[in-house]
Amino acid sequence: VILLEHVAKSFDDMIVFEDITLHVEKGEVVTLLGSSGSGKSTLFNIIAGLYGVDRGKVEVEGSVGYMQQKDLLLPWKRVYENIALPLKLQHVSKEIIQEKIEKYLPLAGLEGTEKKYPYQLSGGMRQRVSFVRTLMRAEDIMLFDEAFGSLDYATRRQMQHWLLDMKDTLDNTMVFITHDIDEAIYLSDRIYVLSKIPATIEREIVLDYDRDHKEKRFLSPRTME
Ligand code: ATP
Ligand code: MG
Repeated sequence: VILLEHVAKSFDDMIVFEDITLHVEKGEVVTLLGSSGSGKSTLFNIIAGLYGVDRGKVEVEGSVGYMQQKDLLLPWKRVYENIALPLKLQHVSKEIIQEKIEKYLPLAGLEGTEKKYPYQLSGGMRQRVSFVRTLMRAEDIMLFDEAFGSLDYATRRQMQHWLLDMKDTLDNTMVFITHDIDEAIYLSDRIYVLSKIPATIEREIVLDYDRDHKEKRFLSPRTME
């Protein structure tokens, strides 16, 4: 559960949020859309507890996994070590780590990269490594900031599909940031559209998956203000 109520956040004299309220239930998949600079990553940093707020209430129930927009891979460590590190810190056994890595790397199209260093990979591959690293822990709440950016269309669709399959088993809460409206519709139960800063929630779109027609239906495109 993520609950933000009447949150205000500024950087020096720049007001990013004056009064923003949003609520994500356990098990929901929610996407944030909004133009560049509308405060999406800032919102993630607030949810992840990296940024404090000036006013308002922030409640986050559960452990948070965060894939940041800029991949934060350790350049001096190989792919394997980069992915394994968070689990090692939690004292997860080598066998379990190995098993997970063997399962996830091929799914992300990264087989054979275990021994490579991040600089030997393309930008899209590095992004997938950091995506896999986030998934390895399967936290209660997972935040993905442009998780599929800089991937080709086919790989992107494949990973989105895979992610939703995984979500069915994990049953955790996922929040995505993307600029791709098709991706947002495909992945989400609900979409929040942020306005320009000081950002408000311009729209909240509720979606439903129609199993018979295998497509998403818009339940309520609702204007908030
Ligand atoms: P994009 O789609 O381009 O990633 P965004 O919606 O994620 O954009 P943010 O990164 O949240 O936007 O930035 C919102 C505003 O806050 C921007 O004007 C940015 O310059 C400013 N900002 C973000 N982080 C900081 C910081 N740590 N210090 C100062 N200003 C910041
Ligand atoms: Mg951003």
